[in-house]
Amino acid sequence: MTNRLTALFGGTFDPIHYGHLLPVIALAKEIRLTHISLLPNHIPPHKAQPEATTNQRVEMLKLAVENYPFLSIDMREITETRLDRPSYTIDTLKAWRHENGNTQGLAFILGQDSLLNLTSWNNWQALLDYCHLLICRRPGYTDSPDDKDFKQWIALHQTNDINQLHQYANGFIYFANTPLENISATEIRQQITNKKSCEALLPSNVWNYIQTNHLYGA
Ligand code: ATP
Repeated sequence: MTNRLTALFGGTFDPIHYGHLLPVIALAKEIRLTHISLLPNHIPPHKAQPEATTNQRVEMLKLAVENYPFLSIDMREITETRLDRPSYTIDTLKAWRHENGNTQGLAFILGQDSLLNLTSWNNWQALLDYCHLLICRRPGYTDSPDDKDFKQWIALHQTNDINQLHQYANGFIYFANTPLENISATEIRQQITNKKSCEALLPSNVWNYIQTNHLYGA
């Protein structure tokens, strides 16, 4: 049995919403996670920028986690990444292992849409050398990619046994039975720009922050 299983949930969080929160809350219960760290990513200056600044994205995360004691924020991608390049998940995982050693359990949480994109990630095949992948369901996205090799790679590493996630430090892919939440940050930003309320889609303190700071054209 490894020590406590640490779970990182990476994203742009522009803004954080219930499509992020409700699945990971359910996931924590489903697989007995005591703690999840939200990992806001760094976006280099030459890439398409989030609409909120990094500081604003982090402020919204801080507000969101106030309501959920088992959530915290891991700032490493924002504080440690070189300004001219994106935060590659593989580098973050390596850095985490460097700090915490190889025997402790580490998991990285993804929505199904992100899993379908995984083969475009830097050194994606090596991800499982450092962590487990925990996949949350997302409406509109299949759990089975078209690419035959990728499908085989998933099948090779997939487990339905929660105990394996706790017994081994890395190496497994787990498809969680999390609730389907039809919410996306892109849609929230568009709705706010169009002066529509999406108060029900995110925590009220985050909604208030968006209004007070006139984010996304509010
Ligand atoms: P955008 O609409 O701007 O692309 P997003 O809502 O997908 O943003 P991100 O911050 O890019 O949010 O996503 C962070 C992680 O959360 C990703 O792994 C993504 O797959 C997952 N995620 C986002 N929304 C949902 C949702 N509604 N259900 C399940 N997973 C989600």
